Amino acid sequence: MTYNELKEQENQYVMNTYGRFAIALDHGDGAQLWDVEGKRYIDLTSGIGVCCLGYNNQKIIDAITEQAHKLMHVSNLFTTEPMVQVAKTLVEQTGMGKVFFSNSGAESNEGMIKLARKYSYDKYGEGRAEIVTLYNSFHGRTVTTLKATGQDKFHQYFFPFTEGFAYAKANDMESVKAAVNEHTCAIMMELIQGEGGVMPLDPAFVKEVEAYCREHDLLLLIDEVQTGIGRTGSLFCFQQYGIQPDVVSMAKGLGGGVPIGAVMASKTCETVLGPGTHATTFGGTPMICAAANAVLSEVTKPEFLQSVNEKGEYFKQKLLAMDSGKIQDVRGMGLMVGIVVDPEQRAALVAEIMDKGVLVLTAGTNVIRLLPPLSISYAEIDEALAVMQSVFCK
Ligand SMILES: *Cc1c(COP(=O)(O)O)cnc(C)c1O
Repeated sequence: MTYNELKEQENQYVMNTYGRFAIALDHGDGAQLWDVEGKRYIDLTSGIGVCCLGYNNQKIIDAITEQAHKLMHVSNLFTTEPMVQVAKTLVEQTGMGKVFFSNSGAESNEGMIKLARKYSYDKYGEGRAEIVTLYNSFHGRTVTTLKATGQDKFHQYFFPFTEGFAYAKANDMESVKAAVNEHTCAIMMELIQGEGGVMPLDPAFVKEVEAYCREHDLLLLIDEVQTGIGRTGSLFCFQQYGIQPDVVSMAKGLGGGVPIGAVMASKTCETVLGPGTHATTFGGTPMICAAANAVLSEVTKPEFLQSVNEKGEYFKQKLLAMDSGKIQDVRGMGLMVGIVVDPEQRAALVAEIMDKGVLVLTAGTNVIRLLPPLSISYAEIDEALAVMQSVFCK
C-alpha cells in the first residue's frame, strides 16, 4: 500500500490520538529505516529511545526466535529462566535489591508510586502518601502518572485525577523543601527531563535531594524510563550522578524494541511489595525477557558504554561547530541530545531535516531531540550531520 492508501485507512480505523509525521515506515537495518515507498532515512529517534541496538539486530531476533519456540508466555504463577536472568543482571550491575517486571514506562512508574506509598504505610500508617515531583517532568499517561507529571497541560479532561502529588522547581532545593510536609513519602524525578526538553538536573541539587530524603525517610524515586539502559553513557543515569536511589523505574530501551518495563528497589525497600500486593499478566514474560537479556548483554559492556559517550560527544561537538546562528545550545548526556533552537523556527527546521531523510524528535517548546540507536555507526552519524548542517547553515 502507498502512504496515501494507508493513511486513508488509518483515518478510518485508528483513533486519532497522535500527531503523526506523514511517513509510513516499512523496515529497518542498523540506524536506517525505509518507508513504504522505498525512501531511506537515517534514524535519530530509535522509536523514542526504544530500539537501542538498532533495527534488524540479529542477537535480539535470535533470542526472541529461540525463546518463542521454547516458551512465549506462562504467567507469573510460574518461574522462568529469562525473567530471573534479567533481574539478576540489573541487580548485579547496580547494587540495587530486587526487580518487579511490567510492560511500559507509565506502568513502571505506577509500581514505583505504589511501592513508595506502601513503604510509608507499613512504617507510619495512613496519611503519609504524598509524592513530590518536579515541574516540567513527564511520568506517563495513566490517570495517576499524568498527575505525577508536573505540567498543567496534562491535568485536563480526565478528572478526577489521583490525589497526593505536589510539585517543586528543578534545581531549587528551597522549592523542594516547601513542597514537602508531614504527609510526604517520596520525591520522584527524572535526572534528565526528557519530554520536558532534555534538561539535565544539576548534580549538586540531586545530591542535596538525596541527602534530604535520607534525613526525612522519604524514598528517592528515579524515573529512568528514558535515561536508562545505556542511553546516557552508563547503564543508568543515576550511576553518573553518584546517588543511590531507593527505587528506579525503566522501560523504553530495556527490550530493544519489544514492550517491557521494570521497577527496581534498593535493599531497604525490596520486600515492600509482597505476595498479592502488585501484579500484571504479561510482566516478565519469557519471550520479552529473552530480548531484554540480549540487550543487556550488549549495553552492559564497558566498551559499548564508552562508545555511547564518544558518539554523544562527537554529535555535540559537530553540532556546536555548525556556525549557523540557528543552534542556541546543545545539551544532554551520551546519546540523549537536545538541540535548542528558536521555538518559532523549530517546526520548519524539523520538517526540512525529515524531508532530507533524517528522522528526529522534539521535546519541550524549543528543542530538537536526538535519541539515535546506541549502536549507530559513525558513517550514519556523519550522514545525519551533513543533512543537519545543510538545514542549519542555509
Ligand atoms: C516515555 C516516558 C514515560 C512513559 O513511558 P510509556 O512506556 O510511554 O508508558 C515515563 N517517564 C519517562 C521519563 C518517559 O520518557
